[in-house]
Amino acid sequence: MVCVMVCIIHAREWISSATNQFFAQELVQRSESDADVKDLLNTFDFYILPVLNADGYEYTHTDNRMWRKTRQPNGTDPNRNFAYQWGGQGASTNACADTYRGTKAFSEPETKAVSDFVLSKGTKVKAYLAVHSYGQYWLYPWLFLDFFGECNESSRCFFTGGSDLCLWQRESIGTGVSQL
Ligand SMILES: [Zn+2]
Repeated sequence: MVCVMVCIIHAREWISSATNQFFAQELVQRSESDADVKDLLNTFDFYILPVLNADGYEYTHTDNRMWRKTRQPNGTDPNRNFAYQWGGQGASTNACADTYRGTKAFSEPETKAVSDFVLSKGTKVKAYLAVHSYGQYWLYPWLFLDFFGECNESSRCFFTGGSDLCLWQRESIGTGVSQL
């Protein structure tokens, strides 16, 4: 099974990458000593992309710390550039907006590359985590409507794990519609 974790989708959310690098370090350092980690590693192949939006991330270091989008030409919100339900609620058609959806789905090479990678893994992909740092939320699909979705056993487990984590961290859990 495959778990994909993607960070710095939004350029200014630096801590999302540091968080996942810490997670990767924990996986490596505890791979022999921690039974739970060993079990995770025997179950999943983890693919961690520390910086999806590399050009935007660079720009936050050189020009504008609060830049959020990609860097071609006016910038696109990569979070709103994926094909499924592209251009729906919450996505702007205004190229100057922080939530600009782009000229078409996968107009950005960053989102296209992630999509191609995930699709190449096929049904082995059991979890896809987009790590942000805007708020203290654990959001599960889908963001465009308030619908829990058709859950199978593993996704129910995943949501339950997320709920436990959120209670521990005093964070909120729910769909994007219910939480944002
Ligand atoms: Zn974000």
